[in-house]
Amino acid sequence: MENLVNKGINTENLPNKEGYFGEYGGSYLPPALEKVMKEVEEAYEKISKDPTFIAELKDLNEHFTGRPSPVYHAKRLSVAAGGAEIYLKREDLNHTGAHKINHCLGEVLLAKRMGKKKVIAETGAGQHGVALATAAALLGLECDIYMGEIDVKKEAPNVSRMRVLGAKVVSVTRGTRTLKDAVDAAFEAYLADPVTQIYCIGSVVGPHPFPMMVRDFQSIIGMEAREQMLSYAGSLPDAVVACVGGGSNAMGMFSAFLDDKDVSLYGVEPAGKGLDTNMHAATISKGTVGILHGFKSLVLQDKDGEPLPVYSIASGLDYPGVGPQHSYLHSIGRVNYKTATDREAVEAFYALSRMEGIIPALESSHAVAYAVKLAKELGKGKKILVNLSGRGDKDIDFVMEHYPLEEYEPEENLKDGYDEFLKHIGGEKN
Ligand SMILES: *Cc1c(COP(=O)(O)O)cnc(C)c1O
Repeated sequence: MENLVNKGINTENLPNKEGYFGEYGGSYLPPALEKVMKEVEEAYEKISKDPTFIAELKDLNEHFTGRPSPVYHAKRLSVAAGGAEIYLKREDLNHTGAHKINHCLGEVLLAKRMGKKKVIAETGAGQHGVALATAAALLGLECDIYMGEIDVKKEAPNVSRMRVLGAKVVSVTRGTRTLKDAVDAAFEAYLADPVTQIYCIGSVVGPHPFPMMVRDFQSIIGMEAREQMLSYAGSLPDAVVACVGGGSNAMGMFSAFLDDKDVSLYGVEPAGKGLDTNMHAATISKGTVGILHGFKSLVLQDKDGEPLPVYSIASGLDYPGVGPQHSYLHSIGRVNYKTATDREAVEAFYALSRMEGIIPALESSHAVAYAVKLAKELGKGKKILVNLSGRGDKDIDFVMEHYPLEEYEPEENLKDGYDEFLKHIGGEKN
């Protein structure tokens, strides 16, 4: 039988029954929600093994999203990087333009099978909201998206997309009127009616079973990419690189390679304006163990356990927590967590656009930026697979306004070898 998930590939078979990856994960909730999560877990346990569910999801992945997304050899970028060959897993080519549709289809299909009428979620920049509204429209469920009032104003195009798709955008006017308050409002709404609605979390975060469930739905990225590398590139990659916000695109990619001990894995966090400033969101690099949004993981927090304000040029990476499986993989040393600054991400954004004709999301640009450095380190004859999590159409106006090409100066502290790559930015052709 076709397998939905690749737990078989991950021999550690995590999380355990309580939802823990080592010491991370679990479920830290008020008793009323505890019960609701248990129901979701039991339903998922059953439905995810149902061949008709697996077949329906597979059909949607192929005929709606357009899977499998290709793996593409970025030859000109590889030459410019001056070392290993760089391959891109093109999640930017999915319908809606990013990987988020993979877990939204899974979650909404599960909601439908559980007999729910409505899916709800919070959204910051609106990317998760749009993907969920899309899946809800497709499968005929109602959709309420909670969004801070400030974000509603800032992200007008995504708000319009959600409304056109038939979702209700609930503007949250309390507190800071941003993502954190939107999460609280959505949780309250869920508690008020857990029978007809279900909360669809937007990454491998939150209480058990969400980190597992979202990973499972995203694991199609890694399963496809592993086969595609064997058939298209002739071997497994030496390294795999993905950006990490909450960590869903990275977990989806990494999960297929966890047991390939010769494949090094790299998660790239946003260093923002620099790790020595407080303008970053590098949770694993700088965080401490804590509890946030119902789960235990590394968290960027103050002495009282309050989440710190975080920042990244890429709104999808701007989160003070990280999926518990990432904290675990960091603790056992299986995945290396690195960072890229705003500026490095913008350089990679321009470089990939100009050298390959692919405009990447600023989130994904963090992974590209690190892959270029790594290519030089690994050297010729090696292969790097990068998860290109989304397309950058949403970011072009912002980048052109704040990082115009004319004013573009490479940072002085960039590593040797990056110079070569930078020569190609600013219109120079090879
Ligand atoms: C939301 C988003 C991310 C960050 O989310 P993860 O859960 O860390 O994958 C990365 N890339 C794109 C394009 C996104 O929209």
